[in-house]
Amino acid sequence: MKNILPVIKMGHPNLRKTAQPISTDQIQTPEYQQLIDNLITTMRAEDGAGIAAPQVDVLARIFVMEVDNNPRYPDKPSFPLLVAINPEIKPIGEEQLDSWEGCLSIPNIRGNLKRWAQVKITGYDRFGNFFEKELSDFASVVAQHELDHLNGVLFIDRMTDMKTLCFREEFERFYL
Ligand SMILES: [Zn+2]
Repeated sequence: MKNILPVIKMGHPNLRKTAQPISTDQIQTPEYQQLIDNLITTMRAEDGAGIAAPQVDVLARIFVMEVDNNPRYPDKPSFPLLVAINPEIKPIGEEQLDSWEGCLSIPNIRGNLKRWAQVKITGYDRFGNFFEKELSDFASVVAQHELDHLNGVLFIDRMTDMKTLCFREEFERFYL
């Protein structure tokens, strides 16, 4: 069964907590396999580019990400589904880019911040296998955004110019 889970919103204290690592044995359990399926289903139903377990009120170090013709990000390139468990991210090089971000936990808001343009992500997939990938541009940004959720960080915390905080409708009208 795949269920759409309720997404908790900014102000819920669990969005500000540090999520706990999962053991490779735990990953294989029906409980966590169901959670991963539900995260994917919820992300797709909400048109998210990614979602992290704390956003569905589970403080586990898991996120999923995917973009495939997403109406919330009409200008962004697609990237395939990635399930990341106990992920770690390191920048490749020093290049940063301007990132206009939104968040399912902060509905209809956009803000501009800096992210690493290219990163290396390591972690475990849903079968408990270690993986290492290089991500660039939007995929790199989404991975950094989702990893922040595992550490209780929201994108607004990383904004340096709060004047760019805006509603999605105005963002699409004036900035896109
Ligand atoms: Zn988010």
